Amino acid sequence: MYTAREHLLAVTRKLHALGLNKGTSGNASVRDGDGFLVTPTGMEVEAMTPHDMVAMTMDGEPRNHGERKPSSEWRFHRDILQARPEINAVIHAHSMFATTMACMHKEIPAFHYMIAVTGGDSIRCAPYALFGSQSLSDNALKALQDRRACLLANHGMITLGETLDEALDIAVEAENLCEQYWRALQIGKPHVL
Ligand SMILES: [Zn+2]
Repeated sequence: MYTAREHLLAVTRKLHALGLNKGTSGNASVRDGDGFLVTPTGMEVEAMTPHDMVAMTMDGEPRNHGERKPSSEWRFHRDILQARPEINAVIHAHSMFATTMACMHKEIPAFHYMIAVTGGDSIRCAPYALFGSQSLSDNALKALQDRRACLLANHGMITLGETLDEALDIAVEAENLCEQYWRALQIGKPHVL
């Protein structure tokens, strides 16, 4: 049986093993009591231990001093967990195809029925805002309305789940959809359902 810290670390490792995140990019969080746990900033995944996961209050303060500093993108994790009571886990990745489409400010339409796993008939792209900023968080929340995935312009993607495993599954599928859409665009105009 995993503790929440162990589970968050395991999913963070899996994001790297699957190639969705590289180096120190990307981060993840999970609701924990009346606060949340988020991955630490600027740390290689290989070096992380469960103890390095940072416990935060919903006010955005670390619960325990002396711990690692939270991901610089903790704000949208907090805001999403606060605004979406049905969601318990948030994953953020700079995966190749999602980020490529995000750099083109492209919304992913319903060109494939699997788009439904992301909660609707499109994956929206939130307008660009500086990483870690309140504007980025506000833009992301809007793009995630009635959805479990969105792109962040010139940045990457966010996926949501009732559990970390669900958020991970949606991240894998969203990246697949972005790759398939990208490939389809190479040879013409994909048919939209
Ligand atoms: Zn990022």
